[in-house]
Amino acid sequence: QLREGELLRRKLHNTIQELKGNIRVFCRVRPLLPDENDESSTLISYPGEEGIELHQAQGQTYSFSFDKTFGPDVSQRDVFTEISQLVQSALDGYKVCIFAYGQTGSGKTHTMIGQPDDMDQKGVIPRSLEQIFQCSQALRSQGWSFKMQASLLEIYNETIRDLLAPLKSVGGDTTPAKQHAIKHEPTGNTVVTELTVVEVNSWEEVSSLLRQAAQSRTVGKTAMNDRSSRSHCVFTLRIIGSNENTEQQVQGVLNLIDLAGSERLSKSGSTGERLKETQAINKSLSSLGDVILAIANKDPHIPYRNSKLTYLLQPCLGGDSKTLMFVNISPDSKSLHESLCSLRFAAKVNACEIGVPRRCTSSRPQISC
Ligand code: ADP
Ligand code: MG
Repeated sequence: QLREGELLRRKLHNTIQELKGNIRVFCRVRPLLPDENDESSTLISYPGEEGIELHQAQGQTYSFSFDKTFGPDVSQRDVFTEISQLVQSALDGYKVCIFAYGQTGSGKTHTMIGQPDDMDQKGVIPRSLEQIFQCSQALRSQGWSFKMQASLLEIYNETIRDLLAPLKSVGGDTTPAKQHAIKHEPTGNTVVTELTVVEVNSWEEVSSLLRQAAQSRTVGKTAMNDRSSRSHCVFTLRIIGSNENTEQQVQGVLNLIDLAGSERLSKSGSTGERLKETQAINKSLSSLGDVILAIANKDPHIPYRNSKLTYLLQPCLGGDSKTLMFVNISPDSKSLHESLCSLRFAAKVNACEIGVPRRCTSSRPQISC
């Protein structure tokens, strides 16, 4: 009887996956940091492999379910195991987007980059690149050769900044010189004008690009306090493969995106530059949610043009492309409100398939996000 139950559960799961198309949402809760209050560890529980429950001190419980939920003890390696097939599909010619969504400090950068030179602590980007280069080498024996092109950009206040451009000093402040526009070519390629695109052949080459980009972001930070948490960072690897035996051609794209912090900065308190930032982040994150929702609902109109981020990624969202969103969560009690907002956003994105009941059940939906 147990087996029958399990079979039924799997069948239901597969049906849901089919209805959902190519959109997946994984939830990841980071461990408490040394300076965070220990008591708060009782706030979150993990029913099953997919569920997460937030318990409020007054006794309310908020339950959510995603394609997978990773608790604080899940290693970088185990997280990657769950996505390695998705990464692999970029080599097969698919367009893939992997996002990290969550408030500042919730573990987005740890998930996406981690410590690239540490075997255990390296994140999705190093592991993905290593796998891609390894597999592309192995495919040589079957006549395949691949060209890989990397670019790294930041979207801040709806403006694109090339993180691989040589920096130019202007009146004491260091700013990159160029303006960038997004163009979608009839071939299906996306071109960002004046963007540095580097041909790469190994993880080590990509690693040095990441270091260069990190430096570029830090330089930007001096002008604007902790800018990196208020901009989206987009790493793109374009993969062009051809087989000399079969004359097959593939063109895949892997986009790995560390999103701006999702915390709701109060609009009333902010003015000038800060208000502009807040509006830009709110606009682009909600546009991203709207786009994913519209794709999953198979809406005739997908509002890609509502933000730079969705417009940039337009060819890689929808169609037969594949999307995965990590929703990163901080476990401390101070973050409960933001965690709920993040989980609600992710549940909306996750539970939008037609005919399938919403799987987000919050017992007291009075916290507004
Ligand atoms: P974000 O990019 O969302 O602002 P970070 O990735 O910088 O957050 O994470 C905040 C802090 O928590 C960092 O010190 C990071 O090393 C740590 N951290 C995040 N996720 C984990 C994890 N899964 N395991 C251990 N430490 C983590
Ligand atoms: Mg970060």
